[in-house]
Amino acid sequence: MTGSVTIVGLGPGNEAMVTPEVRDALAQATDVVGYIPYVARVAPREGLTLHASDNRVEIDRSRHALEMAAAGGRVVVVSSGDPGVFAMASAVFEALEAGPRGWRGLDIRVLPGITAMLAAAAAAGAPLGHDFCTINLSDNLKPWALIEKRLRLAAEADFAMAFYNPRSASRPEGFVRTLEVLREACGDARPILFARAVSTPDQVLKIVPLTEATPEMADMRTMVIVGSSATRIIETPRGLILYTPRSA
Ligand code: SAH
Repeated sequence: MTGSVTIVGLGPGNEAMVTPEVRDALAQATDVVGYIPYVARVAPREGLTLHASDNRVEIDRSRHALEMAAAGGRVVVVSSGDPGVFAMASAVFEALEAGPRGWRGLDIRVLPGITAMLAAAAAAGAPLGHDFCTINLSDNLKPWALIEKRLRLAAEADFAMAFYNPRSASRPEGFVRTLEVLREACGDARPILFARAVSTPDQVLKIVPLTEATPEMADMRTMVIVGSSATRIIETPRGLILYTPRSA
């Protein structure tokens, strides 16, 4: 088989954060596959077919990518941020594992990107400078009880925490519950960062004590980072800097 599937991360939004390796893969692609808003970030050109699909069809989209590669295409699958973080790389491997044996002969690579968590942390300072964990707050693909268990245990272990998909319009109650669990488990005024549309012209950063956080501060374009008990705030004339010391 001569075709390839390259699964790439486009970073958090700013074109300067797309790696040169990812740019090269896109320049050589015959087909680009992905969720509509991510495919929209790829410039159309002669010889390139764009295949944009709706959310929640990750496995179908992956199968389509593998089929086109099996037919000889140089297929690039796009995700935002990093493709291995709550994104397409796992979906492609699920489709590969369940699919025809012949697909395993394809050239399949994952090219990393700057994930939202790291772009958000950098924009605010260094809140993830010591031990941290990350949790996807969407209960699309796992039960809410599991999310709540992980939240509690991470708070108990005193990790800083980074939350993806914090609050969807269709199920806003999950993030209300998240804040309740954190207040119970952390029991103090530790800082929480709401970083919206990081690296784009719409970027907004808000740092508040957990006690003052409200559910409306988050939406699906927001990354939420909760400090550990050691996380600190430095006030400067240019705004707040949030950081966790190296020795916590
Ligand atoms: N693979 C992506 C994450 C996909 S999940 C990555 O590595 O970044 C989508 C979630 O990522 C969003 O709900 C939001 O929580 C976060 N996100 C993506 N881009 C963002 C940005 N520019 N600013 C803030 N959060 C972002």
